[in-house]
Amino acid sequence: MLSVFDVFKVGIGPSSSHTIGPMRIGARFLSEAADAGVLGGVSRVKVDLHGSLALTGIGHGSDKAAILGLMGFEPDSVDPDEADAAVARVRNEKRLQLTGGPELDFDPARDIDLRGDIIPEIHPNEMRLFLFAGDDCVFDQTYYSVGGGFIASAVQLAKPAENDMINLPQRGKYQFGSAAELISICRENDLQIYDVILANEDEFRSREQTREKLYNVWAAMRDCIDRGLRTEGVLPGGLQVARRAPALFKKLLNAPMANEREQLFDWLNVYAMAVNEENAAGGRVVTAPTNGAAGIIPAVLKHYCALEEENLPQIRKFLVTAAGIGMLYKQRASISGAEMGCQGEVGVACSMAAAGLAAVWGGTNDQIEHAAEIGMEHNLGLTCDPVGGLVQIPCIERNAIGAVKAVNAARLAVNASHPHKVSLDQVIETMRQTGLDMSRKYKETSEGGLAVNVIEC
Ligand code: SF4
Repeated sequence: MLSVFDVFKVGIGPSSSHTIGPMRIGARFLSEAADAGVLGGVSRVKVDLHGSLALTGIGHGSDKAAILGLMGFEPDSVDPDEADAAVARVRNEKRLQLTGGPELDFDPARDIDLRGDIIPEIHPNEMRLFLFAGDDCVFDQTYYSVGGGFIASAVQLAKPAENDMINLPQRGKYQFGSAAELISICRENDLQIYDVILANEDEFRSREQTREKLYNVWAAMRDCIDRGLRTEGVLPGGLQVARRAPALFKKLLNAPMANEREQLFDWLNVYAMAVNEENAAGGRVVTAPTNGAAGIIPAVLKHYCALEEENLPQIRKFLVTAAGIGMLYKQRASISGAEMGCQGEVGVACSMAAAGLAAVWGGTNDQIEHAAEIGMEHNLGLTCDPVGGLVQIPCIERNAIGAVKAVNAARLAVNASHPHKVSLDQVIETMRQTGLDMSRKYKETSEGGLAVNVIEC
């Protein structure tokens, strides 16, 4: 079983698969090279980015992330300003200090090769790294960034043989591989989804430590909203997209539309956009479950559980329930835009937020499952076509729309008077099949959709 903290991870923007993943891969590669005893004598490192990592790699900051990973920066602790300064130094001086190894000549233009023409078979986000001593390659590895900051080697991604599956270590008190199994565990033990997921967390740490970690996740989301509401200006990357959250926030604070019913939308919009504008600027965000979709859960959580004061028990219930739903998508399909399109990012975040909110509203397990199902059902087929390869258009507004949709999904579920016809498992499988059928043009390649119809300035 995954942990809640596999789903919610603090990192930097703009992309979990294209920024956090490559950063973690760089560090893992050097750690494996050190274990192999080859790191001390190397004179050159080379990074190849393939598939989606190459096609949207510059806009998503994958080249910068690779450099940071090789230098030993970690996504959850890196200071975004310090990271920018370190990368600028490497670019100017053309020297790179490998973490745990020597300092080398390194020219990003020469030593990072973006090969969008290579479409990997195992997963569209492939990264290969090589270490050389003189002209000889002494160590190389291939890894995949599989969405939400998760990474894997080719061996790890290969489907385990049936016998291996039997021997896999079982983590967590309650094992479930589908929503149906999760609901059935709840029914048999008279528990809520929240209780089941928390009981599994108990295997990793004390309940008190879990509460503290959940608070840290929420605090990182809250701080990200606050920074996004205060920071004005134009987002980096060349599209000249202005940050909109600060102006909308000021307008809302002055409440010129206080009597408008639609003000709910405005508040959800402003919180979601604040997070995604921070993400687009390379700021500190929480994968929820990815960076591209990082605004939906914080927006709904802030509006319903922390408006005037923080209701920590409700915040915990929201986060833990949402994470439980996120685990199902990760286990049964994928949360990678490069595999599933945006339905795997914004769609999954919408589904998770709908479930979290239904739980906070006191929904039954069936209603929570229904809310999650509705949250995805109306995002099926959502493509990923970021303009200029940047996580800005359509991503920022899409999170605002996703937050509003999540609330409506929870509303529909808790008010439903008849059993629902479509199960969460069915909709997850439909998302998976739709993602597999979707043209590569619409899966984080910027080769189709808005990315080819909107002229870059
Ligand atoms: S369109 Fe969706 S999946 Fe693609 S980069 Fe933007 S948020 Fe991520």
